[in-house]
Amino acid sequence: MLESELRAIFAKHPEILCGFTDIPYSEYAAEYRSALVFAVPYGEQLTADDYSEERFENGIRSARIRLEAVVEQVEAVLRGHGVPYWVPPVAQRNETELRAPFSFKTAAARAGLGWFGKNDVIITRRYGPRVRLSAILIDADFEYGQPKLRSECPEDCSLCVDICPCKALKNRPWTPETPREEIIDYHRCNRMRSAFIPKLGRKSACGLCLAVCPFGRPAEEGAADPENADS
Ligand code: SF4
Ligand code: SF4
Repeated sequence: MLESELRAIFAKHPEILCGFTDIPYSEYAAEYRSALVFAVPYGEQLTADDYSEERFENGIRSARIRLEAVVEQVEAVLRGHGVPYWVPPVAQRNETELRAPFSFKTAAARAGLGWFGKNDVIITRRYGPRVRLSAILIDADFEYGQPKLRSECPEDCSLCVDICPCKALKNRPWTPETPREEIIDYHRCNRMRSAFIPKLGRKSACGLCLAVCPFGRPAEEGAADPENADS
């Protein structure tokens, strides 16, 4: 009943990818049995050809507004059922650790929404990495998705690695056991983005390593189709 009501919300938003997973990897596993995780496509699905930081940031912002509206609907259902839940923050705990309290990305891979690309973000078949993730921890059981257990990036693709202006990406394919540090130097990425605070009043959204990803972008004539790549 609870699950069908939650799934009914997403049935009204077919553009949003969603799934459920258990969360044994999380420090919140003792309080909540499951996570509902979902991916809202950015307002603009930018490619390297039409990328600008401002448009990228605006696309993220519009996805956040749509995401918050969905979270409100989910919360209303959960409150109606009297089920304990928590919406973890997106923000990282601090500038040293650079980790959020709950990993949306790990939840998304476990729920089968996508895998970690060489850019350390979730790559979905439908939108590539051009999605904003959210998760809600819920103390209830659900039918869980099929976890992604390996990278589906084409073996010879390194577009995201090559375009990174600060060489933060290490060209390492992901498995669930791969530590983050072996995929990305997060401090290097963060330093580069933070250097824009005086100019923009915020970190640069950057996103070059997302815009360049061939997954989820319109097919170009003669271009390799990652959907049909060996994976
Ligand atoms: S967000 Fe920018 S700086 Fe960070 S890894 Fe991607 S391309 Fe590099
Ligand atoms: S650009 Fe290539 S290597 Fe990077 S995440 Fe996308 S498919 Fe994977």
